[in-house]
Amino acid sequence: MKQMDADIIVVAAGLSGLSAAVAAGEKGAKVAVFEKANTTGGAANMGMGPLGIGSRIQKEQMVTITPGEALRKHMYFTHCRVDLRIVREYYFKSGETIDWLQDMGVRFAGAQRAFSAPEATKAYSDGEFTWHVVIADDGTVGPRSATSMTSALTRRAKELCVEFYLETPVKEIITENGEAVGVRAVNRDGEEIECTGGAVILATGGFGANPQMIKEQTGFEFGKTIFNFAIPGMVGDGIKMAWAAGAGHTDCTMELMYQLPDNMNHFILDGAFRQPCLWINRLGERFIPEDQIANTTFTGNAIATQPGKICFSVFDDALLAHYRKDGGDIPSHVHPHDLYEHFNEEWERDLAAGYEPICEAASLEELAEKSGINKAGLLNTVKQYNEDCERGYDSIFEKDRRYMQKIGNGKLYCCRQNVGAYGSLGGILINYRMEALTPGYEPIPGLYAVGTDSCNIFGDSYPFIFPGNTMGWCVNSGRIAGENAVNFAFVED
Ligand SMILES: Cc1cc2nc3c(=O)[nH]c(=O)nc-3n(C[C@H](O)[C@H](O)[C@H](O)COP(=O)(O)OP(=O)(O)OC[C@H]3O[C@@H](n4cnc5c(N)ncnc54)[C@H](O)[C@@H]3O)c2cc1C
Repeated sequence: MKQMDADIIVVAAGLSGLSAAVAAGEKGAKVAVFEKANTTGGAANMGMGPLGIGSRIQKEQMVTITPGEALRKHMYFTHCRVDLRIVREYYFKSGETIDWLQDMGVRFAGAQRAFSAPEATKAYSDGEFTWHVVIADDGTVGPRSATSMTSALTRRAKELCVEFYLETPVKEIITENGEAVGVRAVNRDGEEIECTGGAVILATGGFGANPQMIKEQTGFEFGKTIFNFAIPGMVGDGIKMAWAAGAGHTDCTMELMYQLPDNMNHFILDGAFRQPCLWINRLGERFIPEDQIANTTFTGNAIATQPGKICFSVFDDALLAHYRKDGGDIPSHVHPHDLYEHFNEEWERDLAAGYEPICEAASLEELAEKSGINKAGLLNTVKQYNEDCERGYDSIFEKDRRYMQKIGNGKLYCCRQNVGAYGSLGGILINYRMEALTPGYEPIPGLYAVGTDSCNIFGDSYPFIFPGNTMGWCVNSGRIAGENAVNFAFVED
């Protein structure tokens, strides 16, 4: 067995681990990072950018929301069912963290919001301009552009002499008298490594790729009732190691949204049906004011309450012509802007390939038969909906009248929507210093938990009103833990 030591040991080099490593390195610590994959960045390499509140960029853009205001809003959003001191430390640091990233060379395409709420609900549910969307190294902005941020953090860590051990998963935390004093890992040659140090920071990205843990912790069934991103390697290692070392459990959730199965290979369709057209459940009944579907968390939650945890979005030739001419009623930052120009191409390709969630029909009866939607329910709903459209008033949900357009003009296009998720949230009980706690809320000396492994601050739902919130949490919890771990390790010495 190979023996090593470091001041600070970081378990994983995803977004939160990298942030912790850089923060500890900046305070002069000798840092060792053990990473399971053959590269750094983790799930963050898939995304677009972190939350910040009070950044230089926001001030330049005249975005006025303050960390204190965000904290109050967060409090109402979660009904105070989370530790607000943790949220406070995070939000009040988050603006300066964006500046810190910028100073490291990360470029941002401004502070953006993820959606704009319909007029009637703006006062309490509008999206805030907190999402600092990263510009990719090639100058583009979109899915995966945050890779340039994880690259910048990796470069910065290397400048600070942080040592990376890739393809070297950590298997166990070494404890002595209830204190975390090191880790055991196995490198790519199968050699065991024991690394001892002043503090251990866990940052392994949750359990989005572990169907059994998803079922046990959240009740969802992977591939049946939830189609989440399952990034290889995110199987709950850090959470299980922390629990084995005596850390307390927290409720876990999935970071819900909605998406098509294998959506990245059907991305045009995934985007094209995200419109306030007609949304119905398996019974043929409407279940949400469709003007709300841009809040993907709410929509994911709403779908999860429906029979079979599925729903269907439906539009027709007339609506498609409108989207093609005017663009979608709800714009998306994530999907291509010229979605509808390529719609027919992908639609025909996927229909021919038998892509199961979609179907088209010449009549409502045919649609019911092909999709499995209850025929009587569908016919009743469309009759009432079309009458409401004629009157210009949605008698069920008071949907924004701009989107009230009759269904049934030409061919019908239908897409089954599933509950999706970016990954898991929560697992390890922590305090605002990011120290892992026992079930009795006593800190486990030397043990810290950051990123999605310890993201217990959203309550039951991701607050999409403050977009960039998981990455924001990851960078800031990582920084806070890195700084506190160094203080702990050096004081202890
Ligand atoms: C498609 C997609 C888009 C997203 N877009 C955004 C966005 O725009 N904004 C936003 O805020 N959030 C976004 N997210 C969520 C965000 O990316 C994640 O919440 C965040 O990256 C999680 O960071 P983390 O540090 O907790 O874990 P990760 O960044 O996922 O890193 C975890 C790391 O742990 C490693 N690991 C696992 N087990 C071990 C072990 N035993 N030993 C060593 N290493 C181990 C893994 O290999 C991985 O590198 C998105 C997610 C996805 C999937």
